[in-house]
Amino acid sequence: MKVSEKLRQAIASGEPFFSLEFFPPKTEQGLANLYERIERMARLGPLFAAVTWGAGGSTAQRTLELCSACQGVFGLETVMHLTCTNMDQAMVDEALEGAKEAGIQNILALRGDRPRNQEYQIGANGFAHAADLVRYIREKYGDYFCLGVAGYPEGHMESDDKDLDFEYFKEKVKAGADFVISQLVFDHELFTAWEAKCREHGIDIPIVPGILPVQSYQSFRRLAFLTKVHVPVELQEQLEAAKANDQAVKDIGAAHAVEAVRALRAAGACGVHLTTLNLENSVRRVLQQSGLAGERGTPAPAVAAQKREWDDF
Ligand code: FAD
Repeated sequence: MKVSEKLRQAIASGEPFFSLEFFPPKTEQGLANLYERIERMARLGPLFAAVTWGAGGSTAQRTLELCSACQGVFGLETVMHLTCTNMDQAMVDEALEGAKEAGIQNILALRGDRPRNQEYQIGANGFAHAADLVRYIREKYGDYFCLGVAGYPEGHMESDDKDLDFEYFKEKVKAGADFVISQLVFDHELFTAWEAKCREHGIDIPIVPGILPVQSYQSFRRLAFLTKVHVPVELQEQLEAAKANDQAVKDIGAAHAVEAVRALRAAGACGVHLTTLNLENSVRRVLQQSGLAGERGTPAPAVAAQKREWDDF
């Protein structure tokens, strides 16, 4: 099912929802550990799962494998991220055909960042920006895929002209996007103001705020540096003071995420997209404390049976 339809239904019903983002682990053991976590987290009832794509196709096989498992084994509607910079058309087509074969109908269409030690390569296919990928998928696959795009409440980090950046964002949506997932939000007021601006400019597709429960000081620093998002001073100071104590960092991260989810919901957002970093405890804590999820029993028998087949395979 298309994620945009699920989002519209959830928004119309006013039922709070959440989605979970995973990245493909590098090792078999890492993947096995992640499958165990996903099986448990699936019982919390996410609206959908999303799986990241490595720059230039570096994780193509692993992303597809994890997407297939989320969709086919764990029964989660799955969004496959797909970046287009430094990818030729054949690679993009292979990824989309693989998604189709795995029963995946949802793609988050992205430009992506430059792969490590490479320059941006546009290539003959002309995939310079995410809008080019959206247009290409629409032209070649019609309405088969439901397409999401990334939105940046504070503007994209490479752009010096925030108005122009917003115009490009509007173009990307107009090219055929069905939903938006935002950049990580640490300051909920910035998200709420940007969402209102999107609506004023006629963007009427679902927009889901991205939330990261901080789980380690190092990963927080790296993500804050890469995304250049505004982190409230109070949160920065708390994390800085606790940086030698992993559990204290997790506690602060979860408490801040709970507060952000509550504030976003109070401002009208029905749900959030959680970056899990493939970990379970903080995410579960945030979902339960913010009232977005409770345990919803064991997986459906069909899912459990499929899982056994997968294990045998
Ligand atoms: P675009 O929308 O193409 O924008 C990129 C830049 O180009 C912006 O500065 C914009 O202003 C500018 N621009 C756009 N159109 C034009 C134009 N016509 N002319 C000139 N300039 C233009 N990265 C990964 O590698 N893998 C992932 O799985 C992944 N998942 C993500 C999920 C989310 C929710 C988000 C927010 C980001 C994700 N990223 C991922 C990071 C993303 O790839 C980077 O932020 C990247 O730098 C921009 O991608 P984009 O699709 O937003 O680019």
